[in-house]
Amino acid sequence: MYFIVGSFVCKKDVFELFSVGYQLLNMPHMYINGEWLNTDQQFTVTNPATGEILGSVCDGDQYHAKQAIDAAAAAFKPWSGATAYARSEVLQNAYALMIERKQALAELMTREQGKPLKAALNEVQYAADFLKWFAEEAKRVYGETIPSARADQRFMVRYQPIGVVAAITPWNYPISMITRKVAPALAAGCTIVLKSAEATPLCAIAVFEILHQAGLPAGVANLVTAFDPAPIGEEFCTNTKVKKLTFTGSTRVGKKLAQDAAPQLKRVSMELGGHAPFIVFDDADPVHAAKGASLVKFLNTGQACISPNRIFVQRGILDAFVQTFSDRVANMKVGNGLEAGVSIGPLVNEAAVRKVSRQVDDALDKGAILLNGGKPLSDGEHAAGHFYAPTLLSNVSDDMLIYREETFGPVAAIIPFDDYDQVIAMANDTHYGLAAYVYTQNLSRAMRAFEALNFGIIGINDINPTSAAAPFGGMNESGVGREGAREGLSEYLETKLGGFSI
Ligand code: NAD
Repeated sequence: MYFIVGSFVCKKDVFELFSVGYQLLNMPHMYINGEWLNTDQQFTVTNPATGEILGSVCDGDQYHAKQAIDAAAAAFKPWSGATAYARSEVLQNAYALMIERKQALAELMTREQGKPLKAALNEVQYAADFLKWFAEEAKRVYGETIPSARADQRFMVRYQPIGVVAAITPWNYPISMITRKVAPALAAGCTIVLKSAEATPLCAIAVFEILHQAGLPAGVANLVTAFDPAPIGEEFCTNTKVKKLTFTGSTRVGKKLAQDAAPQLKRVSMELGGHAPFIVFDDADPVHAAKGASLVKFLNTGQACISPNRIFVQRGILDAFVQTFSDRVANMKVGNGLEAGVSIGPLVNEAAVRKVSRQVDDALDKGAILLNGGKPLSDGEHAAGHFYAPTLLSNVSDDMLIYREETFGPVAAIIPFDDYDQVIAMANDTHYGLAAYVYTQNLSRAMRAFEALNFGIIGINDINPTSAAAPFGGMNESGVGREGAREGLSEYLETKLGGFSI
């Protein structure tokens, strides 16, 4: 059964979730200048595990992007002029609301994006952490004074908000990728317009509903939902009122947006793709390392930018590592993330299933050994979703697509290696540079690897080197800038120097 309220159309359970959790009963979907706006054009949102249509949302266009930018520009002066304490309070309120709604938000996320409920609960907590962290940091944007070589001169540095920010976020972490941008922007005193991913607008609406209820003044944060992202991106890059573009998504789109923003020399932050090496030296416990590798590899069905794409295992422990890994994969349950025991959800769409299939088939053609999975799942309970069996390949080599291309799916590729220098060279042999992992009990080797790997985030015997308090971001073609931590706030600040002659 579908419910229709105004032009808001959705399934009964989603309707109840929204009406109970978010009071969206009479609210259509784009949030511009403090109001929930409607459009005649709508697009549908589908559950990737079941194929069910969850609802339909506004299909915004360039006009709406411009309208939202105008609202953000008008709101900039009062918001940047408010005290840091006032801005902090709104973010604290939003944190409290998000925690209060954690369960409902996680259920919505599982329906819309597909990740198992437990992972969705973790993501909502991670998303809320950014609201809290930046609520606290808002009060710590200190300037500095600098001694001058001239006795009659004083230098003072202050940090001030950049201005209107345009943000574009992906579907794989549909709530935390929003707060990771919105929270520091608002804390810094910027105003923002965000375009959510076309696959997950319902999560974005739920976040903006929280910001609205947290007491955010009109125009300070605005949401545009759209099926076709290109016109919105064009407006973001060309509108002179936008002073900064922040993007999380693929390297391909990030490069295009950076190019389009270049004529105005807009500030850009780019959180892009990855191709993480996971290195296991032979002094590591192979069982412990295999457990860690399998957990992080299959996180979010492999649809994570920090997902290991190449697992390098030193030959001495290869058999023990592979055996443990394979046993764990064999026990993974694939299905609808709302069902108990499911640890692997669907992929985002059929194109993603085809991409994974192509990489696996290519690897098998070129000599990889298939230990688990290796095919799409399309029968019975999996028939209506976009599922691919959790897959383990060994004997992977550098001539295979999977060795070079980001997989973004549930395929673990194991590559044997012999010595330290060889594996560091192999690990660095990529144009990406986001995350890397090293397992070793040798402190000196761990430190040398930490320094030698050209990646922005390195887990040493650790599969979760992320936190709102820690800088997240990549080197090389994995991006520009950092999110989270003090660095995440400075991305939204301009440095201004005053030279005072006294
Ligand atoms: P994508 O680049 O296709 O889409 C990301 C966002 O960009 C979406 O909102 C989409 O609508 C928008 N977009 C696409 N084309 C656009 C255009 N021409 N103009 C403006 N916006 C446009 O990426 P995806 O497939 O949705 O996300 C997966 C990618 O994101 C992976 O490569 C992954 O590694 C990366 N990612 C990176 C991080 C990070 O922090 N580094 C985090 C999550 C995801």
